[in-house]
Amino acid sequence: MSVLMYQICRVCQHAQSRYIFQSQLLNHVVKYYECPICEFVQTENPYWLEKAYDSAINDVDTGIMKRNQMCSKRATNLCALLNIKDENILDYAGGYGIFTRLMRDVGFNVLWKDKYCDNLLAKGFGYNGQNVKLLTAFEVFEHLESPIHALDEMFSISSNIFFSTLLIPEPTPKIEDWWYYGQRHGQHIGFYRKKTLEYLAKKYNKNLYSYNSEIHLFSEVKISKLFYMILMKFYKLFYIYTQRRVSSKIWSDYIEVGERK
Ligand SMILES: [Zn+2]
Ligand SMILES: [Zn+2]
Repeated sequence: MSVLMYQICRVCQHAQSRYIFQSQLLNHVVKYYECPICEFVQTENPYWLEKAYDSAINDVDTGIMKRNQMCSKRATNLCALLNIKDENILDYAGGYGIFTRLMRDVGFNVLWKDKYCDNLLAKGFGYNGQNVKLLTAFEVFEHLESPIHALDEMFSISSNIFFSTLLIPEPTPKIEDWWYYGQRHGQHIGFYRKKTLEYLAKKYNKNLYSYNSEIHLFSEVKISKLFYMILMKFYKLFYIYTQRRVSSKIWSDYIEVGERK
């Protein structure tokens, strides 16, 4: 079997993820593969990541603030649905800590963890193995070198994972036709489909909910698909009400971090 024609799928381990095309990524010509079983699309084994992560947050991520605001509102709505109030939430691969701080401002006990990035905005609220009711992972999955190892870790921390990654359209777009391939930063190395997420939900024995091919939930308990959809779609409207379940930690965090010094 040609090494060039097939690779092992990094999600379902199927041996024959098929070559689909190659393209320029940073200064390399990179091959892309698609799994016939779970439909995951992946790059060849990524050897260019050190260069791609010169800065952990890529320079062309101009949507970072808007996305964090949107995610914090949607997560606040989800907490109402999952009845989460005082329980710990972990923002996995939490970047600069923007989401952690925003959610603490709303009133949730969000903690931060990131192997690759400095915590700039949520110092004092790093994760140290606390019990966690919900794990969030926004724009993380498409960066994972080994989705299975990462998911093993995530599910060992929390049985609920709320995450965003843009599902790859069908049929698989050409490299120049889909911005999410991330040619300009080289950090996106795996692209999921509904079928891929269903495979993962089954593997970890979770329920799967997706809104609009962008924001997804693996949950321990079954929830209403309709409520999930409505709370994600009209997130700004429902946020007005759901944020009232909790009270802001801006002041209490100020006292707490101050006392620790
Ligand atoms: Zn697969
Ligand atoms: Zn990304």
